[in-house]
Amino acid sequence: MESHLFYLSSNPRPELERAEGIHMWAKTGKRYLDGSSGAMVSNIGHSNPAVLAAMRAQMEKSTFGYRLHFMTEPSERLAAKTAALCPGDLNKVFFVSGGSEAVESTLKLARQYAVAKGEAQRFKVISRTPSYHGSTLGALAVTGYAPLAAPFAPMMHEMPKIPAPRAYLDGLDLEDPATGEHYAAMLEAKIVEEGAQTVLAFIQEPVGGASTGALVPPKGYMEAVREICDKYGVLLIHDEVMSGGGRTGKFWGADHWGAVPDIISISKGFGGGYVPLGAMIARDDMVQTVMDAGGFMHGHTYAGNPLACSAGLAVLDEIERLGLVENAALMGDKLQARLRGLMNRFSFIGDVRGKGLLTAFELVSDRGTMEPLPRELNAFDRLVEHAYAQGLIIYSRRTRGGTSGDHFLVCPPMIIGDEGLDELMEMLEAALVSFAAEAGL
Ligand code: PLP
Repeated sequence: MESHLFYLSSNPRPELERAEGIHMWAKTGKRYLDGSSGAMVSNIGHSNPAVLAAMRAQMEKSTFGYRLHFMTEPSERLAAKTAALCPGDLNKVFFVSGGSEAVESTLKLARQYAVAKGEAQRFKVISRTPSYHGSTLGALAVTGYAPLAAPFAPMMHEMPKIPAPRAYLDGLDLEDPATGEHYAAMLEAKIVEEGAQTVLAFIQEPVGGASTGALVPPKGYMEAVREICDKYGVLLIHDEVMSGGGRTGKFWGADHWGAVPDIISISKGFGGGYVPLGAMIARDDMVQTVMDAGGFMHGHTYAGNPLACSAGLAVLDEIERLGLVENAALMGDKLQARLRGLMNRFSFIGDVRGKGLLTAFELVSDRGTMEPLPRELNAFDRLVEHAYAQGLIIYSRRTRGGTSGDHFLVCPPMIIGDEGLDELMEMLEAALVSFAAEAGL
């Protein structure tokens, strides 16, 4: 059948029949293990009965109530539950339908806050390279991946960037506090270079997502970044679209370091693949300042609809009831240990990194220099295809400025147990063997 959609994979893909737990079935009857939770979305697994029941029950009552006409119980309850999970005095929640919208909202709130405080000269948002913060023009302007932004360059204000703290590429020790200071100093230097009075915010992913392949910041980095932001009156935005919701083994990625931002974005696992859902959570006083100055000039029609919020609420309840944050920490440790074990067998695995079940490995041609594999091997695509043939779904990206550097996210649903992990590792190993044979490695 000819498809009228133009965003599908360029590789042939079968039609999806159904999905349950950590598995998905194509119409051909073949079973796949969802080793990347889609795009790090299906955190509590597929077809969770409690979530489906909550959605059904809400659908019987109402599926939409416009926010200017009604308040709804699911949105109020989800906002309260989300606020209770947030650090510091971040307790005001703004719902959206996805990650880009969530990031866009953080940028607009930050800007309106600065204007309301009489600091209208602040408009620059510093971010990192590589990074991914979304596909809308504002989120793209702070995304540190040039090929995505290049075609749209005249339509947006390109924002200043600093290098992401990729200690593994720079041969620096993650555990050495000097490493954290080294990368944090780049933020301070950039703020000064840009003119501190013009800098509105710094945005970062606490544990990196697809752009860096689960990058973990070095010791001391998160704390130092917070101090630098405070020193120059720069707002700190944590993009937890992927790292929020428990996947890293703590509810927020930043919880591993106790670093408290001013604004957070979350999506992906927040709706868990059941509904398009995201949120921005901000400091109480910031929101109050903006509201006192005339209100937040932002909104999306579907924001906070009761159906999406009922699903989001049930997702959070299931995460709690099943102890999934704890399971992500436990199974993430096991997964990373087993991936490191594969480094003995496959010399082209250069690095294994991540927190909890936000885990990745990177392929290299030389572990000493971390030289990437030759670009023409197309490893980021080929290994995914070998895994797919086995019945394993993994997620890949090629970064390092878009030139080379292939990394693979192995991020199964947080419900995975030992049996699922065995199955995943068996297929991954077989995929690595056939990839190595094809690539002559
Ligand atoms: N921010 C981060 C850290 C992401 O990983 C993503 C998506 O991958 C986004 C923002 C954009 O989210 P969405 O694709 O839902 O718009």
